[in-house]
Amino acid sequence: MSADALRLPLAFESAVGNDSMALARAKLDKIFGFKNFRPLQGDIIATLLDGRDCLALMPTGGGKSLCYQIPSLVRRGTGIVVSPLIALMQDQVDALRDFGVRAAFLNSTQDRATQDSIERQFAAGSLDLLYVAPERLVQDRTLSLLERNDIALFAIDEAHCVSQWGHDFRPEYRQLKILARRFPNVPRIALTATADERTRQDIVSELSLENASTFIASFDRPNIRYTIAELGSVSARERLWQFIATEHPTDAGVVYCLSRKSVEETAAWLSSKGRKALAYHAGLDASVRAAAQTKFLTEDGLIIVATIAFGMGIDKPDVRFVAHLNLPKSIESYYQETGRAGRDGEAANAWLAYGLNDIVQLRQWIAQSEGSDAFKQVQRQKLDALVGLAEMPGCRRQALLAYFGETRPIPCGNCDNCLTPPRTEDGTVIAQKALSAVYRTGQRFGVTYLIDVLAGKADERMLRNGHDRLSVFGIGKDVAPTIWKSLFRQLAAQGYLTGDDEGAGSLLLTDRARPLLRGEEKFLLRVTRPTAKPSRRAAPMIAKIAHENQPLFDALKALRSKLAAAAKLPPYVVAQDKTLIELAEKRPANEAALHEIIGLGASKITRYGAAFLSVIGEFKKHPTLTNRLSASVNVTLAAHLRGEDAEDIASERGLELTTIYGHLAEAIEAGLISADDALKLDPGERDEIEAAFDQCHTRDSGKLGPAFAALDGRYDYGILKCLLAEIG
Ligand code: ADP
Ligand code: ZN
Repeated sequence: MSADALRLPLAFESAVGNDSMALARAKLDKIFGFKNFRPLQGDIIATLLDGRDCLALMPTGGGKSLCYQIPSLVRRGTGIVVSPLIALMQDQVDALRDFGVRAAFLNSTQDRATQDSIERQFAAGSLDLLYVAPERLVQDRTLSLLERNDIALFAIDEAHCVSQWGHDFRPEYRQLKILARRFPNVPRIALTATADERTRQDIVSELSLENASTFIASFDRPNIRYTIAELGSVSARERLWQFIATEHPTDAGVVYCLSRKSVEETAAWLSSKGRKALAYHAGLDASVRAAAQTKFLTEDGLIIVATIAFGMGIDKPDVRFVAHLNLPKSIESYYQETGRAGRDGEAANAWLAYGLNDIVQLRQWIAQSEGSDAFKQVQRQKLDALVGLAEMPGCRRQALLAYFGETRPIPCGNCDNCLTPPRTEDGTVIAQKALSAVYRTGQRFGVTYLIDVLAGKADERMLRNGHDRLSVFGIGKDVAPTIWKSLFRQLAAQGYLTGDDEGAGSLLLTDRARPLLRGEEKFLLRVTRPTAKPSRRAAPMIAKIAHENQPLFDALKALRSKLAAAAKLPPYVVAQDKTLIELAEKRPANEAALHEIIGLGASKITRYGAAFLSVIGEFKKHPTLTNRLSASVNVTLAAHLRGEDAEDIASERGLELTTIYGHLAEAIEAGLISADDALKLDPGERDEIEAAFDQCHTRDSGKLGPAFAALDGRYDYGILKCLLAEIG
């Protein structure tokens, strides 16, 4: 797929006539609060305004919806949107209404009276957009209804559902062919994020789109940072926590696990760390799943831990990270699952941690699965491609896009390998040692035992097996266990080692191992720098907002939650993060200035403008605006100023209580708040602590240890720190 090949050579905007395109731009600004079309949006809209058909292939988050929403607003009549997910229609329509667009949907969940009323609105020409399920649309009753008034266009969303080749085939999509015959003068647009050639051909032929102009956007998601971490000495869960705590302390995200059991354990573990995390898998009651999904959409900062059962139909634009605790099955699944992050175009993370077990287990599953040999062969190739991506030293984005047929000449600068390039070194000798250990122990043992052999660990099992007498025993003492682990994984990834058929976890040599053992081949070992200190890597995502603006951003977020609850809408429908960020940065002072903020159209300003202005006004008087404290301290400070106590802040942020007190101490030191505010101590308690300070000369020494001991540890260290910050 080449990004530009199918872009049309003509400048449509001029061909269509300036008037309607100018009107389209005016709607973009006035209703949606956006100043410019994204690449291709303008061309697609111009084509539809000209009355011609389109096929639009754009990645998730590419901005497909505006391509049909705006022409529906500009052209005479109602835009009819075919959308396969009934569950999403309500959300889509609610979001449009909040923009002041006259939108409605028709589906089987509505009672007769509601349906009648919507049909009447259509017939009276008082709808801009009408969403309809495909099976509903092709009924005679609906088709006759549509003939009773003007139709601006037909938009067929998720058009890949028409293809048997694709992953969500929906037979009723095939009947949509009837639209071309019955409404020959109404332009149609098919939209999808599935771009392979075969699916595209199916869409064209099944929907009679032979005359459609095709528009293909790049499938790159530049705002997503790809990281594929190998498991070293810490567990996957521990690594996950490091990642979440440093990069996404308060963000919403999805964590994918392979099994239901690990879904539940991981959700419990994240909860115990103080994050709100909910489990989601097919074994849970439908009502439990629905509740989890609703919470995820309506609350800020929730984490969903899920099997891949979760995802289809999740339109939440502000998912800031997608983490995988296991290898997905293929690059396609990986790209689809990670694609759920950052639909709003803001910075997001796709993070994956994997180890040797993943490779061995997935290969075993394929071997043991039912299915033809040809099928298994394809599955194996897909897995190998993914393992190759995980093990490669070069730019991940280049490789991902290349897999989907797109070339990208320069490395991206926004993946782990670009940010911290791994080294490769000659690993032939240690690879030979590892393979010999497998061979000498009879190809009956798993990686942990093999590393013990190499390290020369003479425990009872080793002695019983007599492996302490092997020539390989202890020959790897000088190499760290994490390196051995990484080496074994790389050997398995590259096909030198394989798992046993029974799935007992033993490693076996393959034919490939022989030339390497005989020294006829070299082995290049990929060495990543330790990633245990993520702070040394590129700036974490939370730095996307300058820290002096963080408190206002937090206050605006809190306001958004309130407005959303009152309007019974998800927070991101009321306003997206990028809108709040601009509000916090530009701090508009009046309604006219609000029009300059991205995402604030006329209707949003009418609804929420005054509330935003009042929070901004409050903050302009506020001391936190000009302080020099770190972003993290300011997050704590903002929460404190909202009236939350230290314990709540600690559990909300997943940080230790002492850390929160430390933040408050910095704010006290800077003179922004008082210790009494921060600590809510009884006067007696305060006297007791001050007496201990006197007794231990704490004010002179600055050391809290003696006073802490003198008070028998009854007060948190942080409390003492706060008091000292004030009186010291
Ligand atoms: P898709 O349906 O292709 O996944 P959406 O239509 O949901 O994508 O759009 C993704 C995000 O991009 C939304 O948050 C939307 O508000 C934003 N967006 C779309 N077009 C523009 C634009 N021209 N300017 C700014 N933001 C846009
Ligand atoms: Zn890169």
